[in-house]
Amino acid sequence: MAAVDVYSRREQTDDAWMNVAACRGLTEIFFPPIAERPQSRLRREAMARTVCAECAVLDTCKTFARENHEYGFWGGETEEERHEAGYRLIAPIGVRNINR
Ligand code: SF4
Repeated sequence: MAAVDVYSRREQTDDAWMNVAACRGLTEIFFPPIAERPQSRLRREAMARTVCAECAVLDTCKTFARENHEYGFWGGETEEERHEAGYRLIAPIGVRNINR
């Protein structure tokens, strides 16, 4: 699926569930800063996972992120976890091997 197809589909999705997302205002722990070190990424993602575990829309969020090939931490999953579940990133540059 080309990137333009993904973005054109997204405009048609119902995003109302995002209004009750537990991560509102916490963007910095769901998306990496530039040049983030691996250890920092693990700590950041652990914090994000804790927030997601208490979120009322976790399943909806996970499905949305998988279907839209999102980057960042969504629905309790890292990019690599979505990738490994068969929901490939559009440009899987730098995807970590999570099976080490
Ligand atoms: S599951 Fe996680 S990423 Fe998704 S809306 Fe909830 S807190 Fe945010």
